[in-house]
Amino acid sequence: MDEIRDATSEVACDVLVIGGGTAGPMAALKAKLRNPAARVVLLEKANVKRSGAISMGMDGLNNAVIPGYATPEQYTKEITIANDGICDQAPVYKYAERCFEIIQELDRFGIRFQRNHNGDYDVKKVHHLGTYVLPMPNGDTVKKALYRQLRKAQVLISNRFMATRLLNAPDGAVAGAVAVNTRTAEFLVIRAKAVILCLGAAGRLGLPHSGYLWGTYENAANSGDGYSMAYHAGAGLANLECFQINPLIKDYNGPACAYVAGPFGAYTANSAGKRFIECDYWSGQMMQEFYNELQSGNGPVFLKLDHLHADTVSEIETILHKVERPSRGRFHENRGTDYRERMVEMHISEVGFCSGHSASGVFVDEFARTTVPGLYSAGDMANVPHNYMLGAFTNGAVAGEHAIDFAGEIDLPPIDAEAVARERARVLAPTKREDGIPPNQIEYKTRRFVNDYLQPPKVTAKMEIGQRRFSEIREDLENRMVARDSHELMRALEAASILDCAEMAAHASLFRTESRWGLYHNRTDFPEKNDADWFCHTILRKRDGRMVSEKRPITPYLVPIEAQERGAYDRQRVRKQA
Ligand SMILES: Cc1cc2nc3c(=O)[nH]c(=O)nc-3n(C[C@H](O)[C@H](O)[C@H](O)COP(=O)(O)OP(=O)(O)OC[C@H]3O[C@@H](n4cnc5c(N)ncnc54)[C@H](O)[C@@H]3O)c2cc1C
Repeated sequence: MDEIRDATSEVACDVLVIGGGTAGPMAALKAKLRNPAARVVLLEKANVKRSGAISMGMDGLNNAVIPGYATPEQYTKEITIANDGICDQAPVYKYAERCFEIIQELDRFGIRFQRNHNGDYDVKKVHHLGTYVLPMPNGDTVKKALYRQLRKAQVLISNRFMATRLLNAPDGAVAGAVAVNTRTAEFLVIRAKAVILCLGAAGRLGLPHSGYLWGTYENAANSGDGYSMAYHAGAGLANLECFQINPLIKDYNGPACAYVAGPFGAYTANSAGKRFIECDYWSGQMMQEFYNELQSGNGPVFLKLDHLHADTVSEIETILHKVERPSRGRFHENRGTDYRERMVEMHISEVGFCSGHSASGVFVDEFARTTVPGLYSAGDMANVPHNYMLGAFTNGAVAGEHAIDFAGEIDLPPIDAEAVARERARVLAPTKREDGIPPNQIEYKTRRFVNDYLQPPKVTAKMEIGQRRFSEIREDLENRMVARDSHELMRALEAASILDCAEMAAHASLFRTESRWGLYHNRTDFPEKNDADWFCHTILRKRDGRMVSEKRPITPYLVPIEAQERGAYDRQRVRKQA
């Protein structure tokens, strides 16, 4: 087992990027290309070559805004409506304007996208209004292609370092981060003029129905460390009550997947094989209809492909079983499921935080700036709704370029040696005990209570009990958790992030006393949407050591939304035929 070594080293850089999945490599690359003389460090808990949500590849771009198919105005409108109006449009619009340039750049890196007979990008329609889905037949090359670019640009990569806390300068600005080696437990203090958080979703918040702790929809290494670090550094986190819940293949941690199979004619159906939703694009209202069907006696819910021609199914299999989830074909084979013969059972995923698929993330503006000076965020953990992979790449680029310019204007901020010592003591506490509760038991208990008390439909009395249970778990975590080697230490630190996220999820959900975003924030005690009081962001932050929430107005729209357009995503249920 990995021993625990007692050592600390310190490095300094201009820009520190934490998280080498999707947004992080692009942020680091763009920062370095803009100022090749600068020191840019990319810090990753796993190995940048195969880390993050796209580790095995990706089937396609969910939200490509390609001239001729969609406009930035149209996309901004689509996302504003899909997110029930709770959207600062500037970052969404900026993404929409910039993402085509990023697609072309990725194409040049060797990540080719599907083209039609005319040689144009072969974009498919899945969303309610526009056409944005661009398949990536060789999407399994994404990470390799990115890694080559990082090496070429000489970005400094630190693999196997798990960031645990950010460091603040005396004026509150970010000053760096503390990290611990996942194989040796050695400490690394990284001083930086700017830090970009790209640590992905909080994917290990709820427990999956499969029963596996790490059988999550999200990349399981994304344990919410980024959300926890942003919170402790004083950054505002937006709309955390807008949980992520996705349709999944039952007992398998892969999407169903409407984006791939939908354009070929597959659809979501009930047990009678009937369509019950108009549009398979994932939104809170779509998930609410999915949930209603599961509860109604018409379930289970299925992905229906058995009406398609065998050749079409083979084409779908070539994509679904090869690129994003290579284990998917084996899963079906072991269960004896052939798409041609029967429908594939689906279910709903565990809850999590994620902006990539919903809207729960660290608050950022159109330059990816958080509310803490010098601290940026991009990708699934930054609050730009429905942002997905191309959003991570594009906003990673925006963050990298802005951060390197910002770093060029300031001196290295001072760090607080006492804060570093306190963090060392916190991190190592579980290693100082001879005996106690292993981290996986703390994690299991937290996540089971998340399912018991926070899973929508959300009930006030249950969430309040949940809060009490989380404080009891904190007692155990802080006083009785034991880590016997450096691997277990990483799990112990993850358990702490998961508990922070559980507490934030309960706090944010209790604050918004209305229902919004369909199933994502369905509160039984406040079943109606209440625009008069709640047409706003909620911002959660740590103030004087306590968790507080407040309202923040929505910035006036850049792209107006007509009254009749606003409810487009509410009308999801297939109307009865005469
Ligand atoms: C199953 C699945 C299917 C998807 N399918 C599609 C699709 O077809 N099309 C599409 O457009 N989008 C898709 N998405 C969404 C897309 O993949 C994500 O939005 C995007 O990859 C998120 O990028 P990110 O950089 O925020 O996170 P990630 O790529 O997950 O990167 C986060 C990184 O942070 C690292 N990390 C975490 N904690 C720490 C720590 N404490 N210290 C250091 N490093 C840390 C992780 O190891 C990881 O490498 C899918 C997502 C999933 C989960």
